[in-house]
Amino acid sequence: MTIKKTQPDRNKLDQIVTDARRNQELREQSYRGQALKLYPWVCGRCTREFDHKTLTELTVHHKNHNHDDNPSDGSNWELLCLYCHDNEHSRYEETRFDSSKSGKSTAPVATHNPFADLKSLLGSKK
Ligand SMILES: [Zn+2]
Ligand SMILES: [Zn+2]
Repeated sequence: MTIKKTQPDRNKLDQIVTDARRNQELREQSYRGQALKLYPWVCGRCTREFDHKTLTELTVHHKNHNHDDNPSDGSNWELLCLYCHDNEHSRYEETRFDSSKSGKSTAPVATHNPFADLKSLLGSKK
């Protein structure tokens, strides 16, 4: 007597799909997950605290603004709430364009004038 198991490998297939999807999510979320493990769930600017319910509003900021720079010690990450993160980025844009005016620039002195490029760009774009 043979009992045929006609059940297809549905479960296995489901498992593979689930795994693939999870892996993709993990990859996208990996630095966030690592940062959330490393740091307390508190915004680095406004010190707002987060829990599992509000965690979606807590984001990982890259201090050097390079999202591909993810050292595992977390030295390039900073946890910021959505608002402060937004703020941080608009400030970054400002300082980039305003660095010649603000005397307290911490950035290294540029060897070329960024506005020279800007001028020619503006000139060519009529
Ligand atoms: Zn904040
Ligand atoms: Zn950021």
